[in-house]
Amino acid sequence: CGIVGYIGKRDVAPLLLEGLQRLEYRGYDSAGIAIQNGGRGGGLKTVKNAGRVRDLEGKVPARFSGTSGIAHTRWATHGAPNDANAHPHLDAAGRIAVVHNGIIDNSADLRAKLAAEGIELASETDTEVLAHLIARAGAEKLEDKVREALRYIEGTYGIAVLHADFPDRIVVARNGSPVVLGIGEKEMFVASDVAALISHTRQVITLDDGELATIKADDYRTYTTDGSRTAAAPTTVEWEA
Ligand code: GLU
Repeated sequence: CGIVGYIGKRDVAPLLLEGLQRLEYRGYDSAGIAIQNGGRGGGLKTVKNAGRVRDLEGKVPARFSGTSGIAHTRWATHGAPNDANAHPHLDAAGRIAVVHNGIIDNSADLRAKLAAEGIELASETDTEVLAHLIARAGAEKLEDKVREALRYIEGTYGIAVLHADFPDRIVVARNGSPVVLGIGEKEMFVASDVAALISHTRQVITLDDGELATIKADDYRTYTTDGSRTAAAPTTVEWEA
């Protein structure tokens, strides 16, 4: 339903919670956050629950600090609205976190294939397969792992991906579910809806279907699912208060 992400210098959890609150008007049943905890060799920290963003806020541990992260409000399509099915979803090693809007049509087939490889799934969602597909991808760079994983996917998605081995970036992709980048001063935002980032920046890039992006604190790149670069120029959003 709703996606928010941030990479920069500020403490990320309060920014993500604020972004999620701005998306609450769309409706949702669960909410969650994953953040990068330290540099390379560090891990991810995740907190998620069925229920309100306010409830999630109450569950964020005292030392939940980091400067990049992704967050989600879920409107369940596959799997009941419970804590385990709330996003972000992780790979088996807990080093990759994915948030997803949309529906993966062939998820039952992909879940069965992953299970046959001995991969245990922790939720009933269609989304979780993405985390495991990224983990088993042979490509070296995160953006290439994500592209490789997306080749298996039939359906709609707006996604944001964090990887503990690539703490300097967030990779996002769009196919039928909106993803907007927000360009700040040595900080970058991502959201499924401009409402979540408009209080921080008005310089935005709307991804096209079939487009991916890598965002870093001071840089972004957009490309297609075959890996060729696309030229996405920022536009300035006018917003009446
Ligand atoms: N299909 C996913 C799920 O059921 C994502 C739903 C959404 O867009 O929030 O978890």
